[in-house]
Amino acid sequence: ALARIVGGVNSPARSFKAVGGGAPVFMQRGRGPYLYDVDGNRYIDYLAAYGPGILGHAHPEIVAAIARAAEGGTLYGTPTPWEVELAERLHAALPSLERIRFVSTGTEAVMSAVRVARAFTGRPKVIKMEGCYHGHSDFALIAAGSGPSQLGTPDSAGVTEGVARDVITVPYNDLDSLGEALDAWGREVAAVIIEPIVGNFGVVNPAPGYLEGVKRLAHEHGALLIFDEVITAFRVAYGGAQTLLGVEPDLTALGKAIGGGVPLGAYGGRAEIMDWVAPLGPAYQAGTLAGNPLSMQVALAALEILGRPGVYERLEAESAYLADGLVAIARRHGHTVQLGRAGSMFTLFFCDEPVTDYKGAERSDPQKFAAMFRGFLDRGVLLAPSRFEAWMLSVQHTRADLDETLQIADEVLRQMV
Ligand code: PMP
Repeated sequence: ALARIVGGVNSPARSFKAVGGGAPVFMQRGRGPYLYDVDGNRYIDYLAAYGPGILGHAHPEIVAAIARAAEGGTLYGTPTPWEVELAERLHAALPSLERIRFVSTGTEAVMSAVRVARAFTGRPKVIKMEGCYHGHSDFALIAAGSGPSQLGTPDSAGVTEGVARDVITVPYNDLDSLGEALDAWGREVAAVIIEPIVGNFGVVNPAPGYLEGVKRLAHEHGALLIFDEVITAFRVAYGGAQTLLGVEPDLTALGKAIGGGVPLGAYGGRAEIMDWVAPLGPAYQAGTLAGNPLSMQVALAALEILGRPGVYERLEAESAYLADGLVAIARRHGHTVQLGRAGSMFTLFFCDEPVTDYKGAERSDPQKFAAMFRGFLDRGVLLAPSRFEAWMLSVQHTRADLDETLQIADEVLRQMV
């Protein structure tokens, strides 16, 4: 079936998948925590579509919301009551978002947040952290260390050098380097952008006090603090890393999980900054599909489910159960592993030292990761196909799914050298 679908190099698709594509399987159906490939094989899904799949597949309430929205017509191009309601719900979850604008992807959310930061401060430069990924806009791609090579490097074709001059990269969890960069470039820096909890070189938590320090340094130099919570919001906690860790940024980018399974991004923050966004202010932002009634209604259904009592307590407990179980099995079979975990996402690093930055994540053994990925795939467990990514749980994974995964892990990790 695979050969038929790939269709050779002359296939108009010419790719395994639009994003990544490291998993050499074609999926055709999702149900609960499972995916089924074109040959009908079942996989327990921990890829979760690279994060958004926190509700699992075909969640009945999401299916109903999509049907309801479709019945009502999906393309208006006008404001709708759902847009207002969704903004209010997001504000209730993340109070730092005093004003919110909707877009269609995480990339657009980041790009728009950076644009308004530049407009508000009148400054051109952005400081980012090595290894953090902020989407596939030119600005984010050009930045050195935007992520593992295929995610975009400074020499990514088609991106002009002028953009590169405005992006400065410093290591994550390193306040001294940030301080030095701000001392050197401070008056030109519009914003410091960061994944408050990293999901893009594996899951890496900020050291105690680090985010507070980033905020203080940015503000001392008149720069804004942007949290890229495209992965972390409604993943590490309902209110994202900022409510979990108690540090509020000036601006936040959202995406992935907020869409409940349909494309949706959003950004927002302090009112005085967001009022610079058109049509109130001079910073342009549009998007034909921004705020479309389908995305708004499905997102509302998703947040309704995720906002119920106990949802995140259970995700946290199940994630800890699976992650700790995997670590114990790996160690029993003689592998040196480090765990990075935040809420329902985690990474097993195959290296000697706990991982605190991108350089540390790079030391995680790629051969071991590849063997683990393949071992699980062959036995019906789908992981993200990169050592720099995370296992992601959904509300539909049951304890039985986790126990089945641990049983398979025992075999996979025993056979790995
Ligand atoms: N920011 C972060 C932290 C992300 O993880 C991603 C996607 N992996 C993006 C931005 C870009 O979002 P999208 O792929 O929806 O454009």
